[in-house]
Amino acid sequence: KAKGLGKNQYCIYTEDMGVKEVRKMELEKDLQLAIEQQQFYMVYQPKCNVRTNSLVGFEALIRWQHPRLGQISPGEFIPIAEETGLVIPMTKWVLLEACRQCKEWQSQGIYQPISVNLSVRLFQTDNLTELIPWVLQETGLEPEMLELEITESMVFHDINDIILQLHRIRNTGVRISMDDFGTGYSSIGLLDRLPIDTLKLDRLFTYDLDTPSKRAIVHAIILMAEKLHLEVIAEGVENEEHIEFLTELGCYVMQGYYYGKPMKNEQIGEWIQDFQVPEKVSS
Ligand code: C2E
Ligand code: MG
Ligand code: MG
Ligand code: MG
Repeated sequence: KAKGLGKNQYCIYTEDMGVKEVRKMELEKDLQLAIEQQQFYMVYQPKCNVRTNSLVGFEALIRWQHPRLGQISPGEFIPIAEETGLVIPMTKWVLLEACRQCKEWQSQGIYQPISVNLSVRLFQTDNLTELIPWVLQETGLEPEMLELEITESMVFHDINDIILQLHRIRNTGVRISMDDFGTGYSSIGLLDRLPIDTLKLDRLFTYDLDTPSKRAIVHAIILMAEKLHLEVIAEGVENEEHIEFLTELGCYVMQGYYYGKPMKNEQIGEWIQDFQVPEKVSS
């Protein structure tokens, strides 16, 4: 049996292993080297407010350029990184890189908060509440400029402990948002106990807004968020129809290919110059 993750890790490929399994084992092995060999890099996707016609922040998303296999999507390697525990050093790298970048933008006159995705695994290590202030200190970034995105899957874990950690982090001024809201195992029953600032509506809702029943659900989520003093941002906004549906329902902050795909830092300056919300929907 091969689960090569020790120091002298190795892989044994058996004949009955499918292509998928072999690839997974290969990625698992290669992930360990990815940080040291600088195969990871970050891209940034803008978040925009359609009502004020303004940029309101960026989400930092990791990319892996594998030396032989090319681009590997985070959808494929994050679960492997979680299983193996490598997500912890990986996220530390992501946090440092994203905060450093955000601070560098400030020196270019770009004052926009950055958000970083946190795997629930990070809450199971014993130092997340120390890691965040450490990263901020290392990079000189103000806590208000950092937002952490968590997902509903945390309800399967020691939720009381997670809530405690979230309170500690949020007390330092860092903001918290609930990513992909409404898809996972719903955390609605916990919403009043979770120290969060924002709900990120999953992009599946955005796709389905031409269905009246889905619109009713999204409308209810938006009203609920208002009562709970939470901001709402929609993911996966790809066209003007999406924008129209969302603004009708009272959601004005959006992220998606329509505004901008995740970009390398080198493209950000040009994107900011070109950024213009169509007049039609911003009236
Ligand atoms: P997420 O946090 O929900 O990120 C949004 C994903 O939707 C990104 O995919 C983004 O490229 C994609 N997206 C944005 N706008 C659109 C759109 O208009 N249409 C469509 N079809 N897709 C859109 P990506 O970058 O492949 O990331 C997938 C997931 O991987 C993320 O979902 C997040 O859960 C995870 N991930 C990415 N980077 C990190 C990281 O640094 N750490 C951790 N723990 N997870 C990460
Ligand atoms: Mg996210
Ligand atoms: Mg999301
Ligand atoms: Mg998502």
